Amino acid sequence: MTDHINLQRVFFALWPDDGLRVRLAALARRMPADGRLVPPEHLHLTLAFPGTVSSEVVAGLISRAAALRGAPIHLRLDHFGHFPGSRVAWLGSSKTPPELQALAASLQRICRDSGVRMDDRPFRPHVTLRRFVTRFEPVPIEPLDWWADRMVLIESGQGGHPGPYRLLRSWTLEGPAITGPGSA
Ligand code: ATP
Ligand code: MG
Repeated sequence: MTDHINLQRVFFALWPDDGLRVRLAALARRMPADGRLVPPEHLHLTLAFPGTVSSEVVAGLISRAAALRGAPIHLRLDHFGHFPGSRVAWLGSSKTPPELQALAASLQRICRDSGVRMDDRPFRPHVTLRRFVTRFEPVPIEPLDWWADRMVLIESGQGGHPGPYRLLRSWTLEGPAITGPGSA
């Protein structure tokens, strides 16, 4: 008999509070695009995507991430965008704050240190608002300010297969900023 390995599909994200979720959902409805709205309770900004890993790896990710410290991150979400290849339309920031870049890089390193093979695509922070998009118009918007103070590890689906989200762990960003590359 083969050993049963518990697989989990997981990702790290910044997690909006309920007030911001309402505003994001309203923007999503107004976006001139087709496709399917992301459910408001799923809205997030992905920081790192380990994908499908064993439960042992998830435990390692959680203990390493718990050692991270960081201050709340201010993000100005100021434009709509579209990834035609993955057919998602999103809300993004024309400036990536260095603290956000540093947090994503720290999580990327934590994933690698936990034995996860990560792809090397550059970090492109965005909040996906619609999926299965074939028609999209990038109209200007009124910027939304986000003081992101909650980082989470989400399991999306079960047994490594995509599905409903489950919050595995949540951390508050408080205290001094995470130091990034080149800083002391
Ligand atoms: P479903 O796949 O069931 O439609 P989902 O896309 O919300 O749901 P996941 O596929 O687990 O769930 O993805 C979770 C988050 O990680 C999403 O924001 C997704 O865009 C992002 N993501 C998925 N694959 C990658 C990847 N290879 N690199 C970076 N981010 C990714
Ligand atoms: Mg997906």
